[in-house]
Amino acid sequence: MSSAQYACSKCGEQAIVQGEIGLRTSRDLELIMVVRKDHGVEKKVPLQPRVCGKCGFVDLFVQSPEHLKIVATDKPVGSNSKDRPILEYDF
Ligand SMILES: [Zn+2]
Repeated sequence: MSSAQYACSKCGEQAIVQGEIGLRTSRDLELIMVVRKDHGVEKKVPLQPRVCGKCGFVDLFVQSPEHLKIVATDKPVGSNSKDRPILEYDF
């Protein structure tokens, strides 16, 4: 673990608020998710926020970025992308 992990990306202060911080939408209390909609494939990955206690800047990370890759087993959801197969360049 480097000290850069605890430094704010904006002001550079090592004032990142420690402890687990979650983000929720106010309506349905679901976690904010990253969704890839290429070819109708939805990839949902929770966002991990990092908050600077000095300037309030918020960094967001995905917890498992490798999960965002589209793989052959991913099935499109919805009907308007049925005719488009997953192509090699999507990987
Ligand atoms: Zn800051």
